[in-house]
Amino acid sequence: MSLLSDIQAILTGLAITFSHIFRKPVTVSYPEEKRPMPERFRGSIVLTRDPDGEERCVACYLCSGACPVDCISMAAAETPNGRRYAAWFRINFARCILCGLCAEACPTLAIQMSSEMFPCKRDVMNMLYEKEDLLIDGTGKDPNYNFYRHAGIGVVTPRGANPDEHPPVDVRTILP
Ligand code: SF4
Ligand code: SF4
Repeated sequence: MSLLSDIQAILTGLAITFSHIFRKPVTVSYPEEKRPMPERFRGSIVLTRDPDGEERCVACYLCSGACPVDCISMAAAETPNGRRYAAWFRINFARCILCGLCAEACPTLAIQMSSEMFPCKRDVMNMLYEKEDLLIDGTGKDPNYNFYRHAGIGVVTPRGANPDEHPPVDVRTILP
């Protein structure tokens, strides 16, 4: 390689360096300053409420079954009108890989990935989140969805009384 091509290479490098000197920096001072994340960003996990303000989770264990690292646990309970809920619900974020499979599996849209970055913790014991830590006041990404208004279960309204449901059929009336 000749001296001329060496000098040309150095000048090209310097030209690139100088072209960046007056550009606006892209550095963000996280965590004081937060970048707006895309809507589908898989950040921290939350448990949401339905439009009536009730807990959406029906403690069906599907998220727990779908989780590849087995970090969700809960116990199911039931109110006198038959509405299921999680008596306790726990996620071990020290194991969670934020894959989003739990949110995909959830039939009630209760568990959702929020666009918030998961906060770093030094003590691994602080990575254990209980239902009280996970439950938010809002509905999350699907504000109008209420599982009990589509599931054909007479908890919120009588069976078959919701707009997209048919009334239950008495099978004895259709016997030959
Ligand atoms: S995001 Fe993935 S690893 Fe984390 S709790 Fe959900 S299924 Fe498990
Ligand atoms: S968060 Fe969803 S999938 Fe998990 S137990 Fe509750 S209702 Fe079922």
